[in-house]
Amino acid sequence: MAPKRRRSRKRRKLFKRRVKVKAVPRAEEPGDGEGVSPMVEKYWLQRFNLFSKYDEGIKMDEEGWFSVTPEEIAARQADRCFGGAVVIDGFTGVGGNAIQFAAKCNHVIAIDIDPKKIEMARNNASIYGVEEYIDFLIGDFFQLAPFLKGDIVFLSPPWGGPTYKLRSTYTLDLLKPKDGYSLFQAAQNITPNIMMYLPRNVDLLQVEQLSWLSSPPLQIQIEENVLHGYVKGITVYFGDIASP
Ligand code: ADP
Repeated sequence: MAPKRRRSRKRRKLFKRRVKVKAVPRAEEPGDGEGVSPMVEKYWLQRFNLFSKYDEGIKMDEEGWFSVTPEEIAARQADRCFGGAVVIDGFTGVGGNAIQFAAKCNHVIAIDIDPKKIEMARNNASIYGVEEYIDFLIGDFFQLAPFLKGDIVFLSPPWGGPTYKLRSTYTLDLLKPKDGYSLFQAAQNITPNIMMYLPRNVDLLQVEQLSWLSSPPLQIQIEENVLHGYVKGITVYFGDIASP
């Protein structure tokens, strides 16, 4: 049996809280994937973890399958909303996060550069009955950022597809379309209350350094998101939404 991988002491210290997210148990029928490609089938089997209302008409394209935040993780992230908060979701995709924010925050500004993603996100939000709490914007987050006002910025930028898993460490320069530092700075000009959903193998020291881009350094909390016993991603909270 392969030896269990131990996390280094430094990496362990960086995690303030390990959040276990209970998966939604369903009996699955492998191969019953409505003609989804073999690449997507693995994700299709987890469809109710991605959207509990999947069967009610959720729309997703191939990229959406890889990049949507599982619903219970998105719901936990949305718990950080405070009274009356307006949340900016910079890379909305098919709307998994925007829907959960809309259910718990005052209002959401959901941005995506791809009009088809916005169409799917709008459809998906209507299935959850939260469409009226979301303003959908088609555009480049970096170009729109200087004109946006909000209390929390949520960032789940492109990780570069599923191949991120093959790296031992995912460095912030690999984020698309710009590196993590440029992204963080664009968000920081809006608010210090920033949430980033990042690959599970992200370089945590680099993540911690983002908080030093402010003076005094921003409060930071790093959370590991576990679903079905697998670490799905890492959420980093900065500013007032980070628990001390
Ligand atoms: P992943 O690599 O995690 O699979 P995606 O490539 O699916 O991520 O990207 C996530 C979302 O971000 C997509 O819906 C994509 O259209 C959107 N996106 C990419 N670049 C920008 C941008 N500059 N501004 C806003 N949305 C963007």
